[in-house]
Amino acid sequence: MVARVIPVEPFDLVVFGGTGDLARRKILPGLYRRFRDGQMPAEARVIGAARRAMETDSYRAFARDAIEEEVAPARRDPDSLGAFLDRLDHVAIDAEGDEGWAELAARMHPDRVRAFYFSVAPRLFGPLAERLHAHGVADAEARIVVEKPFGQDQASARQLNATLAAHFGESQIYRIDHYLGKETVQNLMAVRFANILFEPLWNAQFVDHVQITVAETVGVGGRGGYYDAAGAMRDMVQNHLMQLLCLIAMEPPHRFDPQAVRDEKLKVIRALDPVAPGDIVRGQYAAAGGMNGYLQDVADPDSRTESFVALKAHLSNWRWKGTPFYLRTGKRLRARSSEIAVTFREPPHSIFGEAERWAENVLIIRLQPNEGIKLRVMIKEPGPGGMRLVNVPLDMSFAEALGENGAEIPDAYERLIMDVIRGNQTLFMRGDEVEAAWAWIDPLIAAWEERGSSPQPYEAGSSGPEEAAILMHRDGRRWRGIEP
Ligand code: NAP
Repeated sequence: MVARVIPVEPFDLVVFGGTGDLARRKILPGLYRRFRDGQMPAEARVIGAARRAMETDSYRAFARDAIEEEVAPARRDPDSLGAFLDRLDHVAIDAEGDEGWAELAARMHPDRVRAFYFSVAPRLFGPLAERLHAHGVADAEARIVVEKPFGQDQASARQLNATLAAHFGESQIYRIDHYLGKETVQNLMAVRFANILFEPLWNAQFVDHVQITVAETVGVGGRGGYYDAAGAMRDMVQNHLMQLLCLIAMEPPHRFDPQAVRDEKLKVIRALDPVAPGDIVRGQYAAAGGMNGYLQDVADPDSRTESFVALKAHLSNWRWKGTPFYLRTGKRLRARSSEIAVTFREPPHSIFGEAERWAENVLIIRLQPNEGIKLRVMIKEPGPGGMRLVNVPLDMSFAEALGENGAEIPDAYERLIMDVIRGNQTLFMRGDEVEAAWAWIDPLIAAWEERGSSPQPYEAGSSGPEEAAILMHRDGRRWRGIEP
């Protein structure tokens, strides 16, 4: 099956922070892949912007290195790479200064979609919006793409929303959460709303519980300064895990349209009950197996920041009353694995008698690695041993299902950038959604700051603190293993 690639209209994309880590690893390689697949038109241009002045040729050399590092040799070729690099340019601009803007304005093509990617530190989001407006670089149709983190709490998110809103309409603001750009996450909506199979069972009557896990093997790496001020709750739960929760729990929108989808997600966030202190576990990785502990990775030797969170959430609405949602994320865990597992209840009666062990039906939506969907079902054990039951997976890896001729699954960033150019906000967070998410998170953080509690240590390379397992055991359930 060969994926259809529909070209977007010509655009001018300015990447502020065009020489940064995100531009190097994700944005530039992603744009090249879209160009090579014929989705980014030949007239489109990408302008990198950063304080350090750079000749166009040097910026193209930077982009070439980035692409050669990030894009597999089989997915690149010299002709398309050369043609892509010809579309690149660079301007020297300080987001907090007033030079260079007139030059940038003069370079903008009058009849093209204008998009401005804010791939810079969050404190620069406001100054960039102000200057784009003040110097007439953005027109009424221009789009801005705002990276994470979007605020530190509800108050700062509200303030940032207000600053952006002073210069851009909500329809021009694209708050990026790259989890929403993942193939499987979108497939979650396709599976739920394009099949009759699941939706009738998708409620508290038939779903026992839901587990959402985002496990990383990396530590805080070079981001220690930022991470230590944020922690797993702000860095992962407030955005990525809550977005996944919304997509799992939301009501069917009346159409697959940005407002309708985001209205339904917002209702989920608003239906979340406050989490009881006993239903949250915070952890911090400790040195093990030759790996540093968290306290060796950050500047503050007494830091109480969590690198792991597990919590039990409840939704007070008709559909989900009584079905817990368990969320878990952490760094330096035993495998890199992100998945959502929807565990269904037992059938009301077993015709096979008590002796036959029953195992749950579980729908597993795997985000990474090996994006795909798996459904665990009971079947008869093969062979002449009578009616013995066994639980087996119906497994669909997207890479396999789409075959060798299928297009490479696009990276989340490149898909989302194309959505920006198309003017489709469905997979971007709306301002009220972000504020509502903070409103749920803020009291949880405030409560443990008030108590002055320290996170539970867990060994680097393990599955997290013992207390997280106990959170589940108390309810007679257990976490799925964190498997690569
Ligand atoms: P980075 O590696 O530190 O790069 C920062 C970029 O911004 C550089 O190009 C830098 O170039 C430019 N810059 C710094 N100050 C500037 C100013 N005053 N005016 C104009 N340009 C300026 O940062 P990053 O890791 O790419 O992160 C960028 C954004 O993406 C951040 O908001 C981050 O939270 C978010 N993000 C990053 C990742 C990731 O994997 N890297 C993941 C998720 C979110 P000059 O020094 O020459 O100005």
